[in-house]
Amino acid sequence: MADETRRAETIAAANGIGTDTAFGAVAPPLHLSTTYAFAGFEQPRAYDYSRLGNPTRDQLADTLAKLEGGASAVVVASGMAALDLALSPLRPGDLLVAPHDCYGGTHRLLSLRAARGHYRVAFVDQTDEAALAGILAEGPRLVLTETPSNPLMRIVDLRRTAGRVRAAGALFVVDNTFLSPALQQPIALGADLVVHSTTKFLNGHSDVIGGAVVAADAGLGEELAAWANTVGVTGSPFDAYLTLRGIRTLFARIERQQRSAGAIAAFLAGHPAVARVHYPGLPDHPGHAIARAQQSGFGAMLSAEIAGGRDAVRRLVEACRVFTLAESLGGIESLIAHPVTMTHAAMDPEARARAGVGDGLIRLSVGLEAESDLLADLARALDAARG
Ligand code: PLP
Repeated sequence: MADETRRAETIAAANGIGTDTAFGAVAPPLHLSTTYAFAGFEQPRAYDYSRLGNPTRDQLADTLAKLEGGASAVVVASGMAALDLALSPLRPGDLLVAPHDCYGGTHRLLSLRAARGHYRVAFVDQTDEAALAGILAEGPRLVLTETPSNPLMRIVDLRRTAGRVRAAGALFVVDNTFLSPALQQPIALGADLVVHSTTKFLNGHSDVIGGAVVAADAGLGEELAAWANTVGVTGSPFDAYLTLRGIRTLFARIERQQRSAGAIAAFLAGHPAVARVHYPGLPDHPGHAIARAQQSGFGAMLSAEIAGGRDAVRRLVEACRVFTLAESLGGIESLIAHPVTMTHAAMDPEARARAGVGDGLIRLSVGLEAESDLLADLARALDAARG
């Protein structure tokens, strides 16, 4: 079957399978070598040094580029490295527009680079049409979007925003970590670059820290690959091997995980101890219609505001037995996090308040456990939260 006609599920499950020419190994081999023998004097082979290029990492890059519908991908050591790489076209004085409610680590990176004069940053609620129009009128060089956003699950209309960003002459970068290419493909909607923390759904097993940038345009992709090699942030081959193994089950995992997430969101929405649920799959979510149009599923992440604030959250997390209190997301195990004290602790309290991340907010990453066990765990924990 020609590669171009393969569906995304087939690419995820089988890209590179059965291509080993040395032994016919079905599972693509792991190449750990840092260096490669020249065929002769002045005769390098396809690879010479693994910081620049490595067959296992390139296999992952090829798979990600195909899944996202991009020209190429650069695989790096973490999601933060991927974000930093995607923002590397910015020069001192350039304006970067970023979401006001992005991942706390992203907020810290952009704030610190701006404080050092590497670029200027404006954190804007990108669901607010007037605010977005106002900042685009200032001529930004790059707009970064996270949709759904971490942790409030706000939805940005990608096609519409891409058009406006293009008209303003800026690059459009989308962090697609929360959904993965299985559920959203920003390049088809107008993004120039897609960023991933492959640590999350793509690897899916909470045993790799990794990242990637997928470029719509081959030229920009080459520039980013060269810069990743120059600054030395390319990812390790072993991590790439594990991530490829994770991706082979991406569609099966996310389909099942989001089914449980939908059931949990509905359960929480009807519970008296829960003040509000943020899940784009709920019909009353403000971004529901856009999510339905631009995503092929609502995903396995949600957040909820617990009545009673931080004390109630403490009682809730202490009562959880199936959900583990931990940072991160997108793995096969269900996790519960308190953004204010965990994932978003790096954000200053004012910025958190502006973003709407309050003391009573919890974030859930729904895993592969039995839906009934997950619901029972939350039911018991919510009873405990009420004191
Ligand atoms: N982008 C988003 C949306 C995230 O949630 C995270 C981490 O939680 C990152 C980027 C950073 O990724 P990493 O932890 O792999 O550096």
